[in-house]
Amino acid sequence: AVTRTPFIAGNWKMNLDHLQAIAFVQKLAWNLADAKHDAADAEVAVFPPFTDLRSVQTLVAADDLAVKYGAQDLSAKDSGAYTGEVSGAFLAKLDCAYVIIGHSERRTMHAETDEVVGAKVQAAHRHGLVPVLCVGETAEDLEQHGASAVPVAQLRAALEGVDVSKGLVVAYEPVWAIGSGQAATPEQAQQVAAALRAVLAEIAGDELAAATRILYGGSVKAANIAAFMREPDVDGALVGGASLDLDEFSSIVRFKK
Ligand code: PEP
Repeated sequence: AVTRTPFIAGNWKMNLDHLQAIAFVQKLAWNLADAKHDAADAEVAVFPPFTDLRSVQTLVAADDLAVKYGAQDLSAKDSGAYTGEVSGAFLAKLDCAYVIIGHSERRTMHAETDEVVGAKVQAAHRHGLVPVLCVGETAEDLEQHGASAVPVAQLRAALEGVDVSKGLVVAYEPVWAIGSGQAATPEQAQQVAAALRAVLAEIAGDELAAATRILYGGSVKAANIAAFMREPDVDGALVGGASLDLDEFSSIVRFKK
């Protein structure tokens, strides 16, 4: 059987400036080192604002920290007259490993369609970045279509023409669970993760589907992470609010303790 290294990702959203970022990442690395955290038990990545990335890069490289990082979005374009946009080429130069794409806050507040999300996945791949592709249903979708239909449709749309072998992490984030304190049950997360993995198998074959990590996101905290991680198709978590609390996030990363 394929083993998928658990992945704990912290989405800081629009929080922590570059000075706060370096303090946080340094302390997180110390916490994990003190606890003798084994990177094979869980890979950890933070997703700070764009303006923090250069500082985080410098710190991580100087101290050879076992913390990865990425951006919260990127442009679908590589360069040109796109005021305010950030190219995947620039993120790659900052040694970002990952980039979050299609977060529900981008889909709703910035009107990102499935088409835009798909173009961003391809842009990430052009620059060697692994997309953390977010999909998830609203409360209304859940009521009307059940849990899986919308995330499955979003995944299919975003992966049209995409070579999954270039790297992919999928984050299942029910919109109603994000920042609400009302997490999905582990059983719900498992059900949708399994449906998403079946779609991956259809699109990319069994082997890639089995190797792709599927995260759950939505009100994850230290108290509920272990239950999610016990589900066979849930390979980690995308953590919002709780990723800003150093001790809470350190505990989430160390869910196996
Ligand atoms: C998120 O926004 O990706 C998220 C999961 O947020 P929270 O953990 O705060 O629900």
